Amino acid sequence: FDRQVLVDRPDKKGRADILQVHVRKVKLATGVKLDEVAGITAGFSGADLANLANEAALAATRRHADEVTLADFTVAVERIVAGLERRSRVLNASERRAVAFHEMGHALVALSQPGSDPVHKVSIIPRGIGALGYTIQRPTEDRFLMTREELEHKIMVLLGGRAAEKLVFGHLSTGAADDLAKVTDIARDMVTRYGMDEAIGYVSWEPQRQTMLDVPGLEPGGCPRSPETQQHIDDAVRAIVMGCFERATALLQQHRALLERCAHELLAKETLDEPALRVLTAELRGTATAR
Ligand code: ZN
Repeated sequence: FDRQVLVDRPDKKGRADILQVHVRKVKLATGVKLDEVAGITAGFSGADLANLANEAALAATRRHADEVTLADFTVAVERIVAGLERRSRVLNASERRAVAFHEMGHALVALSQPGSDPVHKVSIIPRGIGALGYTIQRPTEDRFLMTREELEHKIMVLLGGRAAEKLVFGHLSTGAADDLAKVTDIARDMVTRYGMDEAIGYVSWEPQRQTMLDVPGLEPGGCPRSPETQQHIDDAVRAIVMGCFERATALLQQHRALLERCAHELLAKETLDEPALRVLTAELRGTATAR
């Protein structure tokens, strides 16, 4: 649920395969497992891995050795990571843990809601700019009409990331900023456009004037807001968001052991696809009511 996907980065197995190609020119010490090297290079692109093979060979040369050891790879990784960190692509261990729980939070809330779109993929491989991980839901059909309940489910899924982080680590992180922006938009539309707040009534409220985009003569329709109405709208939006947050938290609490198990699997594999998720979360289908 994060930003636009820009570049696909290889997962652990993909990185091991790429490394295999790049180490053909270097002499590896016995016992060097590329699988282990792949394990310490989360977030590396193909080009980074090519660079890594060269750096590791250089590290071996610097210590006058003719074989590249795992220690050489480690030195090379540290060197490259120092460069990558400036571009904020490689996460440290505790950030990876937080991202794993965050993304699994989205996925589990989605999977435990009857009728929501299946989760296609969950990953903690950083992608593009600003996205530390991502969860992709696969829409089963195009939707043109959505009920209040469906919109609330959508909000709950979006809040699942923060809910998991808060539940497990007891802290709030900046990782939920995009999710919260989307959630706020949906909740505000529910109240001001779709008339879904019973107390405020089935009224379409005029959008708040945006000073930058004010075009004279092009006033949008809807009822103007009094300060009291504005207060009510703000309260109603907050009530929807916080209510959904509590429901998402309760769901994750109920499936806490599963959340832990899935997050650890995600940390180990970095990417979980639909079949893997189906196996991992088989127990959820027992609890969710049929579609
Ligand atoms: Zn998120």
